[in-house]
Amino acid sequence: MPTFQSLGLEDQFLQAISDLGFKSPSEVQERTIPILLDQETDLVSLAQTGTGKTAAFGFPMLQKINADSRTTQGLILSPTRELCLQITNELVAYGKYVNGLNVVAIYGGASITDQARKIKKGAQIIVATPGRMKDMIGRGMIDISKIEYCVLDEADEMLNMGFYEDITDILSHSPEDKSTWLFSATMPKEVATIARKFMHTPIEISVGTKNVGAENVSHEYYLVNARDRYAALKRLADANPDIFSVVFCRTKRDTQKVAERLIEDGYNAAAIHGDLSQNQRDMVMKSFRTRQIQMLVATDVAARGIDVEDITHVINYQLPDEIETYTHRSGRTGRAGKSGVSMVIVSKSEHRKIRTIEKIIQKKFEQKEIPSGMEICEKQLFHLASSIKDTEVNHDIDPYLDGINEVLTEFSKEELIKKVFSVEFTRFYNYYKNSKDLSIAAGDSDRGSDSPSIRFFINLGGKDDFDWMSLKDFLRDLLQLGKDDLYKVDVMDSFSFFNVDEKHKDMVLHAFESFKLNGRQITVEISKDGKRKGGGRPSRKGRRDFKKKGRSFGNDSSKFKGKNRRKKRGPSEKGTGGRRRRR
Ligand code: ADP
Ligand code: MG
Repeated sequence: MPTFQSLGLEDQFLQAISDLGFKSPSEVQERTIPILLDQETDLVSLAQTGTGKTAAFGFPMLQKINADSRTTQGLILSPTRELCLQITNELVAYGKYVNGLNVVAIYGGASITDQARKIKKGAQIIVATPGRMKDMIGRGMIDISKIEYCVLDEADEMLNMGFYEDITDILSHSPEDKSTWLFSATMPKEVATIARKFMHTPIEISVGTKNVGAENVSHEYYLVNARDRYAALKRLADANPDIFSVVFCRTKRDTQKVAERLIEDGYNAAAIHGDLSQNQRDMVMKSFRTRQIQMLVATDVAARGIDVEDITHVINYQLPDEIETYTHRSGRTGRAGKSGVSMVIVSKSEHRKIRTIEKIIQKKFEQKEIPSGMEICEKQLFHLASSIKDTEVNHDIDPYLDGINEVLTEFSKEELIKKVFSVEFTRFYNYYKNSKDLSIAAGDSDRGSDSPSIRFFINLGGKDDFDWMSLKDFLRDLLQLGKDDLYKVDVMDSFSFFNVDEKHKDMVLHAFESFKLNGRQITVEISKDGKRKGGGRPSRKGRRDFKKKGRSFGNDSSKFKGKNRRKKRGPSEKGTGGRRRRR
C-alpha cells in the first residue's frame, strides 16, 4: 500500500494528515502529488468525485508557496460557493502547522468588502468562484499578477455553468509562466479546449472510472410512463422507510416543484438550487446534515457542494443532460465503505441512455419494478415492528399508563398487536389498495413521453361555461374514454384544445361528425401542431390537472408517512392537504 511518507511531503503535512486520520493516499493523490512537488508543470487530472482531488492539489500548493510572504501565490477556481468553502476548510486543515498561512475564500452572495479586507491582510492562497473573482479583479481588490499556481477545480462543471468567459478574463490578469492544474471528473470537449488554450503540454493523469465509493454503489433503473414519475418517486421513498437521499432533477424549476410536492405530501424534503439565497442554502444543508431532511431535491450544480456521509439512495428523478454527470450523482452515495443505491426513474424514450451510462460507469444496471402498493404496505409494517422494538420508552407517559391500561384491559397481547398494526395498515392500505402498477415493460406504449398523441381543436370554451375540468369530464363521458386517455385540456374563451392518443383519433373525429350542443354544431379538428409529442411541456391547464391528481394522491400517503416522520396529522385533518408545520 502506498504511504503519504513516500510522496515527498514535509513533516508538517504528514502530521496534519495523521491528525485528519487519512491512512493512505488515494490513487489520484499518489499519482499527482509527487509530480506536482517535483516539477513546475501544467497538469490535467481526471478523477471522479470523492477521490480526494482537493488534497492532490492542496498539499503540493501548500508545500510550494512561501507562507512568509504575503503575496498571493496560488489561485483555485471552483464552481460553487459550497465547494469554495469546502476547499478552503480542507486547505486550512492541511496547512494547520504552516505558520502565517492565510487562505481566503471569495464567492458571491456575501459581503464583498469583508472579502476584500481579508485579501488585504495578505492571502497566499485564494479559493474563488469565477464570477466574484472577476468582479473583484475588475475593481482592483485582488492582484493575481504574481501567482505561480492556478487550479481549475471541477473544470467540467465550471464550463457547464457558463464560466468560460469569466475564467478567460481572470486568467488574462495572471502571469504567462504560472503552472496551471486542471481537475475534472469528466473530459468533455470543452474541457479539452480550455486545456489547450490555457496550458502548455500538460502532463495528463487519469485514474480511470474507479471512485473511492463506486465499488459499493449498485445501480437500478425503473421504467415508468413519464407522467408517473412523481408517483414512482413516492413509492420508492415509501418502500425505503429509512431513506436518506439526494433526488436529482434537471432544472431548478423541477427541483423546486418536486420538493414542494414532497413537502405537501408530508415528506421531510427540501430543495437546493441556485435560485435560493446563500442563507437559505446554508439552512437547507444544515437540516440535511442533521437528518431533519430525508430527501434533498437538488440540481447537479447545487449538489456539487454536498459532502454528506451516509446517503443511502441517490434518486435520478430525471437523467442529466450530460450523461457523464451521472457519475457525480451516484458518487454521492456509497462513501466511506458504506453501500449505496443509485436509482434512475426512466421513461421509455430515455431507456437507451441506460446502456450509454453502463458503458461509462462500466457497471450493469439492474432493471427493477416499482414496488406495488402491497409490497410497500408490507415493508412499512415490518419497519413499524422493528421501530417499536427499538423504541426507547418515554417515561413521561407513565402517569397515563393506568388509564390507558384500563381502556385496553380486555385485550390480550395478540389482540393488541393486531389492533396497533391495523391502525397503520388500514391507513395506507386504503391509500394503496386501488393503486396500479407503475412499471412498464419496454414494449409498452409510453404516452407520457414519446408515444404519438393527437391534439384536437374544439369550438367549445369558456363562453359555453366550460373550464378545463368540466370540459374534460364532458368529453370523456361523450367519447367513453378512460380517466387518463384524454389530457392536456386547454380552455380558451370560445374554443379549446385537448389531446388523446393517436389510436383514438378516428373515433374522436367520427364522434363529432354531426354533433350538436344546444342547437349549435360542434366541430372538432386536428390542431395545426397536430401530432405533438406527449413529452413536451404540459400546458398550463394540463399541469394543474396533474397537480390535482398528485395532491389527492398525497393526502392519504402523508397521513401514513406521518407515522414515521414525527408529524402525524390528526384524523380530523384528513383531506385538508395542509402543509406540515416546519420545525
Ligand atoms: P473530490 O474533490 O475528488 O470530489 P475531495 O477532495 O472533496 O474529493 O475528498 C472527498 C473526501 O475524502 C473528503 O472528505 C476528504 O477529506 C476525504 N479524503 C481525501 N483524501 C483522503 C485519504 N487519502 N484518505 C481518507 N480520506 C480522504
Ligand atoms: Mg473536489
